[in-house]
Amino acid sequence: MKCIFCDNENEAKSSEHIVPESFGNTFYILPKGVVCDSCNNSFSTFESKALTDSVFVFERARFSVPSKKRKGAKGKVNELIIEADEKFRKGHLFIKGLNNENVKNFDAHTQSFKLVVSAFDKSEVAASKLFLSMGMEAIYQSQRNLYDKHSFNELKEFITKKDNTDWPFISTDFETDKFKSIPTYYDKYRLKKIYCSLSYLEVDDKTLLFKFKYGGIAMTINLLNRDYQWMELFYKRDKSSCIFPRHFERKFLKKVKKK
Ligand SMILES: [Zn+2]
Repeated sequence: MKCIFCDNENEAKSSEHIVPESFGNTFYILPKGVVCDSCNNSFSTFESKALTDSVFVFERARFSVPSKKRKGAKGKVNELIIEADEKFRKGHLFIKGLNNENVKNFDAHTQSFKLVVSAFDKSEVAASKLFLSMGMEAIYQSQRNLYDKHSFNELKEFITKKDNTDWPFISTDFETDKFKSIPTYYDKYRLKKIYCSLSYLEVDDKTLLFKFKYGGIAMTINLLNRDYQWMELFYKRDKSSCIFPRHFERKFLKKVKKK
């Protein structure tokens, strides 16, 4: 079989999980050979960085999702260390290193507060690679017509490391048009049970947006190229949206003002 990322003919021994196992996925898997063993192995580097050094670790700890090796979620986001409960109790997590900057709207009566943390710890490139590989694999698996229609060359170059130029994405759950689910029927339902949703929006022949949602986190990326003009609408309308890596947002701010 030909690997969809590097085009090498291969007889893979392992099967690629479209959504990483450490998000709790045991069923949404590509047939063997669709992704070769060497690509599969190399993906684990950006996968583990994106899953432990980013805001995703909070959600994984909160949902008590064990890692591939059946360990509780554990990670570091800048000054904070995040650990899941040893007994895998849902909703219990330990955060070390909190300071006043991280705590907003503290309510003395209920002892509750809003936790403000940075989303990535030098893990933006890893995260973008994770979103892109998930998006392309999901479309290959569940929306073959869409997969055949587009060329994913820029994405493949980036994922297989020949190109390491930053690829922008935006955190927002705002939708200009309705995104459509990539997985269908049973897969869609089972992914929802592990707090995941994967959807797409075809804007034009150069813009195929992929949205990955995990718990309360939603990230949208263009699978076809690094152009990010399309973000303007999302960015203007959703005040809480952020563009990553952050230098893209600074460029963006020069052009548009948040309303
Ligand atoms: Zn490959």
